[in-house]
Amino acid sequence: MNFSELGLCQELSQAVADLGYTEPTPIQEKSIPYVLMGRDILGSAQTGTGKTASFTLPMIEILASGRAKARLPRSLILAPTRELAAQVADSFEKFSTYHKLSMALLIGGVSFADQNAALSKGVDVLIATPGRLLDHFERGKVLLTDVKVLVIDEADRMLDMGFIPDVERIVGLLPPLRQTLFFSATLSNDIKKLSDKFVSNPKVIEVAPPASTADTVAQHLVWTSPKRKREALRGLLRSEEVKNAVIFCNRKRDISTLVTSLKQHDLSAVALHGDMTQSARLDALQKFKDGEVPLMIASDVAARGLDIAGLSHVFNFDVPGNAEDYVHRIGRTGRAGKSGRAFTIAASEDDKKYVGAIEKLIGKPIPLVGDAKSEAPQDASEAKPASRSKKKKAGSRKTEAGSPDTGSPETGRPKTGRPESRKTGSGRKDASSNEAGKSDSGKSDSGRNDDNRSRGGRSRRKQENAPSELPAPPECKGDTLQDTGHVPAFLLRS
Ligand code: AMP
Repeated sequence: MNFSELGLCQELSQAVADLGYTEPTPIQEKSIPYVLMGRDILGSAQTGTGKTASFTLPMIEILASGRAKARLPRSLILAPTRELAAQVADSFEKFSTYHKLSMALLIGGVSFADQNAALSKGVDVLIATPGRLLDHFERGKVLLTDVKVLVIDEADRMLDMGFIPDVERIVGLLPPLRQTLFFSATLSNDIKKLSDKFVSNPKVIEVAPPASTADTVAQHLVWTSPKRKREALRGLLRSEEVKNAVIFCNRKRDISTLVTSLKQHDLSAVALHGDMTQSARLDALQKFKDGEVPLMIASDVAARGLDIAGLSHVFNFDVPGNAEDYVHRIGRTGRAGKSGRAFTIAASEDDKKYVGAIEKLIGKPIPLVGDAKSEAPQDASEAKPASRSKKKKAGSRKTEAGSPDTGSPETGRPKTGRPESRKTGSGRKDASSNEAGKSDSGKSDSGRNDDNRSRGGRSRRKQENAPSELPAPPECKGDTLQDTGHVPAFLLRS
């Protein structure tokens, strides 16, 4: 099956081919023909299944003929979070390369003036979070009476976040005669009942059973003690082939502590949580997506929907208290058929209960890697002299378990640690090295450990990103993308 067989035009087939898509994913195969027919859709699909293209591609086809009038968008995509909305906008930009369609993204934290300017020119596709869209509506800047296609994305998340009243109000402003595409990660009874308010005689499409984990993610559980969780994490980061990883914490306040701690151990990380300003969140996400910083420490704000191409690892620094969050968290990796690895660090009596609930939900045990107390390579700053001798043993055991600690010089190099040049130091100081400078002297030992393991990859890694070239961490100042100078191309498009 190829994209043109689904009824998509040559330009769209070319656009997806340019992106390297060779064949449609199951959700695309099942929904695109029905969307093109004009049917309503009630779709259940996990994130990472190609859901965005399943509605964006046929929408582009439908909107290709016709013109937008000022302040009267022709279609509307509602997403629960700013990040998700921005991600859908990114996908739309990519898929519409060969079409002359206009788009506006209405999300909080971005100046009203820019969004207004886009609306006044007329847009074919309006992508919005409910709150910001209603702000524009109340200011008289947008009318929804010309919307022919409505997408409600991540409806279960909208429900969790209390956005349904806003969504209902928005839908009340739309013409009743329209096409509605309603997507949710799960089709619970609540969601089905809710969908009845929005869709009419929908084609129901389900591509994955709710709360199943993708086979492409290798899951692991690491038991340690509460005090040694950071050490266990660092051990994993150094023994795994971490290209880029999201590390989830349950509490926002632990995120900055972990970022600082990792920096003190020469591991660059950005934070992402709901208390950061919008510009700081987008900035952090951009740096992470661009590969400038290999680690992102996040709260569950990043667990759902976020698409980070080729994410190699997910680490649960804390076992999530809600079993479904586990499925969403680890679903950030192993996407679009690529493989990924997920490690969950458990340490307390409560964690035992949480792990039990997760295993029940996913219907299988999470394989235990071993006791991180003895297995994780230890940093000198925390390791007691007696435990250092265990390190080699631990490394070789991990290798047996599939974590190439000592072998595979060409691939086994974590890009996360850059201790060697921090030690030899160019003398230039950036914000990250200032942070690193605060760390205790014990750090030098951990640097040596890393050096010993990573010599083979040193010159290549240096070429990729020397530590002194690392950008400063994102500033949490400024309320708009313009203030911070991070204006995505699509916002500037005329
Ligand atoms: P989504 O579930 O929409 O967030 O998509 C997850 C990832 O799959 C994104 O990185 C898409 O670019 C990618 N993707 C979507 N459709 C395809 C496809 N047909 N072939 C390969 N990758 C795809």
